[in-house]
Amino acid sequence: MKKYQMLIGGAWTDPASGNWFESVNPFTAAPWALVPRGSTEDVDRAVAAARSAFYGEWRSLTATARGALLRRLGDLIAADTLRLAEIETKDNGKLLAEMRGQLNYIPQWFYYFGGLADKIEGRVIPIDKPGVFNFTREEPLGVIAAITPWNSPLLLATWKLAPALAAGNTVVWKPSEFSSVSAFEFGELFEKAGFPPGVVNIVTGYGNEVGEPLVTHQHVAKVAFTGGDRTGESVYQQAARGIKHVTLELGGKSANIVFDDADLDAAVNGVVSGIFAATGQTCIAGSRALIHRSIYEPFVDRLLALAATARMGNPLDLTTQVGPITTRPQYEKVLQYVGIAKEEGAICRLGGGPGKRPECGEGWFVEPTIFTDVRPEMRIANEEVFGPVLSILPFEDEEDAIRIANNTVYGLAAGVWTTSIRRALVMSERLEAGTVWVNTYRAVSYMSPFGGYKRSGIGRESGVDAIHEYLQTKSVWIDISGNSPNPFVMR
Ligand code: NDP
Repeated sequence: MKKYQMLIGGAWTDPASGNWFESVNPFTAAPWALVPRGSTEDVDRAVAAARSAFYGEWRSLTATARGALLRRLGDLIAADTLRLAEIETKDNGKLLAEMRGQLNYIPQWFYYFGGLADKIEGRVIPIDKPGVFNFTREEPLGVIAAITPWNSPLLLATWKLAPALAAGNTVVWKPSEFSSVSAFEFGELFEKAGFPPGVVNIVTGYGNEVGEPLVTHQHVAKVAFTGGDRTGESVYQQAARGIKHVTLELGGKSANIVFDDADLDAAVNGVVSGIFAATGQTCIAGSRALIHRSIYEPFVDRLLALAATARMGNPLDLTTQVGPITTRPQYEKVLQYVGIAKEEGAICRLGGGPGKRPECGEGWFVEPTIFTDVRPEMRIANEEVFGPVLSILPFEDEEDAIRIANNTVYGLAAGVWTTSIRRALVMSERLEAGTVWVNTYRAVSYMSPFGGYKRSGIGRESGVDAIHEYLQTKSVWIDISGNSPNPFVMR
């Protein structure tokens, strides 16, 4: 088993604790790599390195030079996608087909934000006071703590690192304890691209041993977090004590709404993809399908028929469609929710148990599961499962669909299936979600802002919006009047 080290101040470093823990392959249920168990001491060293890079070499580079480094990194990733995708699949069990797609796309964030790096401009304000020149500067925040979950490790880290670095910040990145391996390999590419030491640091370990000391560190200016909403809430509270900037990308209970005027072939496909792609382990999973009453039964039949064909198996096999659950605790949690839904009276029409077929090997599989007769007040209709479990609810009309869809503490995404342009516009306005897809689902881009309403988060990633999450505005006043005004009144 390969034994990894952490990246601190440009050096590959053993953890101060002298301890490593095993990273487990979710398909074989066997350990396959050793990950350093970081602690407060490592966090302190990493933040110090990031701080000294921020005030040192990194700050002295021009924005154009920063952008060039990001684009060079993009090229290095593009040349290494197959290897990185395979590592991600071994570490988190997601389909190789999906991880290849993500890895092929990741360079675009570095190209896009590399391009934005030297287009961060202030403004000259036509100020109301005579004899004064006023302008603004957009400045980096300092050291950013990037904390990421296990489901799409490199993609979600990229969403933070690319804008943070383009804006001139330095970073300490803590990946999930369950999927840290690709972070080390990614770290090597930063080095190869020529980033100065300390600009990107990687400290691995557990949430309470690395995440917390990082969030509360006095020299961390901002926490950029993706994860569950409960952890997000605690991160938010801890960051508040230090009055830190915060971006939170949290969970969801997204509604995928099918109207009777929809292209039903496309809608069936979209609902299945919304929940079963990535084994339902995505924050944007369309875990509630809202189906217009007039097409309810025939549509459910079509959904069941398509979902029943999903092939579980080895995620490294490109023909597999549903892989294992990434972690054992998450596997148990998903099965627990299946039990809760049954107890609540939802009807299990597909799956509803662990995946036991021979092609599932020793992996933590849950069968693609569909519940009908779900009522809005049931836990299965309200709580994030983060697995391949779909709840189907009928609705009567637009008003009813909006009421049910918005009746959640979350607000990450929503899907609408309709051929009416009026309906598409009305629904996209009234749905309380950071992303609304019409006649498509699970589309993201480096160009388009992504983030949550309500408990799904604060702030935006991707697009021009994202770079402003890593900048602060300074207002500069210069007296050009040459006069000495009365010192005892405000100017
Ligand atoms: P968690 O919230 O459990 O963990 C996320 C990260 O936070 C991990 O690196 C974790 O470390 C770390 N962490 C845990 N406790 C603390 C703490 N007290 N202080 C600081 N950091 C801490 O999420 P999961 O890894 O389980 O990921 C699944 C969740 O992520 C889902 O709820 C999903 O909806 C959400 N998600 C949201 C996305 C979005 O963009 N909105 C995208 C993808 C996922 P450790 O691994 O050691 O516990």
